Amino acid sequence: MEERIASELALLKEKNLWRSPNLIESVSGVHLVIDGQTFCNFSSNDYLGLSNHSALQEAAECALRSFGYGATASRLICGNSKEHQLLEEELATTKQSEAALLFSSGFAAAFGAIASLMKRGDVIILDKLAHASLIDGARASEAIVRVFRHHDLTHLEDHLRWARATCPSGEILIITESVFSMDGDVAPLSEIVTLKEQYGALLFVDEAHAIGVRGAQGSRMGGMIGELGLSRRIDLQLGTLSKAVGVSGGYLCASRAMIDYFMHRARTFIYTTAAPPPLIAAARASIAIINSAEGEKLAQQLWKNIKQFSSSLGEEEPESAIMPLILGGEEKALKAASLLRKARYFVPAIRYPSVPRNKARLRITMTATHTAEEISRFTQAIQELSL
Ligand SMILES: *Cc1c(COP(=O)(O)O)cnc(C)c1O
Repeated sequence: MEERIASELALLKEKNLWRSPNLIESVSGVHLVIDGQTFCNFSSNDYLGLSNHSALQEAAECALRSFGYGATASRLICGNSKEHQLLEEELATTKQSEAALLFSSGFAAAFGAIASLMKRGDVIILDKLAHASLIDGARASEAIVRVFRHHDLTHLEDHLRWARATCPSGEILIITESVFSMDGDVAPLSEIVTLKEQYGALLFVDEAHAIGVRGAQGSRMGGMIGELGLSRRIDLQLGTLSKAVGVSGGYLCASRAMIDYFMHRARTFIYTTAAPPPLIAAARASIAIINSAEGEKLAQQLWKNIKQFSSSLGEEEPESAIMPLILGGEEKALKAASLLRKARYFVPAIRYPSVPRNKARLRITMTATHTAEEISRFTQAIQELSL
């Protein structure tokens, strides 16, 4: 084993795929301190800047006094605090679904739901660029797995036709993200809903990067599904508390019966300790802000920043807070990241297997907290990159 690991690691180094996490010494808004030096961060998913908000801290402290830090057991034993229950009710309301279920991470929610729902004789059809948690959930299920080319509706329909013919009595589950995590583009959700209804399939949509960013004005928790008014036509909505909500954790919104099923069958829900009550209380405070006038103001500021950045680079209409600069080779992406680092910008290179081979990139993210000046200086630094 030692030898096998050593040779795999050596290969990663040789191919510029070696990774080592940066040591963050402190954080203040979009400013990070690493090795005693301050960097302006353009890689965080804290799109609305809520992770530092005082209301989250106060809510967490209050729950800490009532419940202690840890939940002490799984939800089904004695880990089910009032905070968990209330957050689930609030999530179901904001997503206009019958019920919601919390998991300790978005990864656990996606994996547990898909793996428990789909059985032998069923078919799962995934977008090619779906997140690892969705792929792994599909692989862990007993269903046949098919992949359609990114956003390619004709290819999706080919698979649907094939699935209906091959497994006439099986269930079919289509899986996509609404805002894609590494590309920042959006799925043709309305068209996918039409197809799923035509073929009697189920649809699972991962809204990790849409929550708090997309959504109708004043209800950004609704994500793209809410924005398009599709809540009632989508079977499973996945969200995380880890991105725009600024905390940690994941959730699923679905029918009451489906949520009851996951409570009895999703192993990543059953066999793990419930999330700490202070964390859940902080998420509730964050969601209350997102749903308030203050949250809408933050979302508007975020979109103003997104548009400033994209228009200064001459990009077409941006669709989310994620704007990748695709550079191709891993070496080139590493060089770009290191040049920006010298100019005190923090944007790590994203490489295989997080993105396909030869699609290495800088995954740039905007937040509501960046100032116009920070964005314009950063744009200049990007334009001056000589790779
Ligand atoms: C981040 C992410 C997840 C996982 O969420 P966590 O709460 O971080 O575990 C799932 N799907 C997508 C598309 C993501 O970007």
